Amino acid sequence: MTSLNFEEFISDFSRFYILTLLYEGPCHGYSIISKFKRRIGKEISPSLVYPFLQQLEQKGLVKHAIKHVGEKEKKVYELTEEGKKLCGRLFKRFAALVSVAIEPSLEICASCGCKVYEGGHKEMIDGRETVFCCKHCANAYKQERRSFT
Ligand SMILES: [Zn+2]
Repeated sequence: MTSLNFEEFISDFSRFYILTLLYEGPCHGYSIISKFKRRIGKEISPSLVYPFLQQLEQKGLVKHAIKHVGEKEKKVYELTEEGKKLCGRLFKRFAALVSVAIEPSLEICASCGCKVYEGGHKEMIDGRETVFCCKHCANAYKQERRSFT
């Protein structure tokens, strides 16, 4: 942690977030910059965005098309199939890291298997407190058990 300061972290996070914006759909450089500012609440420098897009393009992860907007030409960037696959893997890894970090408060619905982050619906079943995401799942679970016993 000693060599990682906040600015460095933000710069890596910025690259990560640029990928998530591209994953949402094709966009031009300027819209990456404005969406980033709107959602993260922090300015992102064009001197980070454009070289990164270029780098991604060189690696075959991004391609661009020229769109004419009035008299201007704009480059619209888009992830390639390979780029989308890479993002899919990155996001899964990131999601797994995040759910591990919040695991103590994380419970799984005994019926549908979805994640229950807070509260949910609890019922005593066979003397055991069982967690469900909702009442309907609890009923379905009890019904299932009845049909098996
Ligand atoms: Zn459920």
